[in-house]
Amino acid sequence: MEARLRAGERLTDLPDASDAQLYFIGRIRTPWARREDCPRQGRLDGSDCRIEIFEPWHAALEGVGAYAHLEILYWLDRARRDLVRQNPKGDGTRYFGTFALRSPQRPNPIGTSQVRLVSVEPGALVVRGLDCLDGTPLIDIKPDRCEFTPKAPAKPAGR
Ligand code: SAM
Repeated sequence: MEARLRAGERLTDLPDASDAQLYFIGRIRTPWARREDCPRQGRLDGSDCRIEIFEPWHAALEGVGAYAHLEILYWLDRARRDLVRQNPKGDGTRYFGTFALRSPQRPNPIGTSQVRLVSVEPGALVVRGLDCLDGTPLIDIKPDRCEFTPKAPAKPAGR
């Protein structure tokens, strides 16, 4: 369900969508069913969350366990997409343009979080540091930019 509009907030008419052909590569299981229960930003010592990867992409997890931290991108599927001016506290005092905020309400509601990798399971990761609702679609997983050094896997013997 879309977030309610607050006094003084401004909407725009959305143009026709162009299709970026995103694949939702998994689903994020978190303890939070309601927006008001979610952290505003995840914390590395926060609750365990489980990132379930859909079958065609299980093989893409190879090597992920080498990193202590990952960057997770997700689609904030219950956000409204037509807000250009927002009143984050809902108190009618301070207003910001959408691009001056990390609010979930934005034309392309992509959320990003740096997380701590707790464990790797077959087809799933357990992490800490997320702030999204249970069932949020997963867009991508990347090694944390501070830790990333590309390491090719060892060549199999005889090649
Ligand atoms: N860490 C991300 C970022 O900075 O890009 C997201 C930050 S956003 C402020 C996090 C908030 O979005 C949560 O506290 C919750 O209110 C809301 N939210 C979480 N999951 C959502 C979803 N699937 N759809 C819409 N809103 C969501």
